[in-house]
Amino acid sequence: MKILITDDSKMARRMIIKTLKEEIKSDYELFEATNGLEALDLYKKNKPTLVFLDLTMPVMDGFEALAKIKEFDKDANIVIISADIQKTSMDKVRELGAFDFVKKPIDSTKMKQIFAKIQKT
Ligand SMILES: [Mg+2]
Repeated sequence: MKILITDDSKMARRMIIKTLKEEIKSDYELFEATNGLEALDLYKKNKPTLVFLDLTMPVMDGFEALAKIKEFDKDANIVIISADIQKTSMDKVRELGAFDFVKKPIDSTKMKQIFAKIQKT
């Protein structure tokens, strides 16, 4: 399984990877992006099964990256991980086709739920 982790904070990426490693049972390959543009580029090159995407990032934010990745591949599984849990933001990402929305920091329970949901797709 290929997994793309996108956050402008290195610490946030490390935390996602740590939680991921505790929960993932299958083989996986990780890709890391520090902004939306890098994420879009890495998505096109690698077609990951799962994408973790921050919202507030320089160069290209998570909203735009989400829209562009979904435009490229409507079946993309993109999980938004953000501290911004305003209803307007949550509604917007749902509208753009996000697979799930997680409040930062992601915990193992939530990670488990995401993998269970991925198996069903
Ligand atoms: Mg950020």
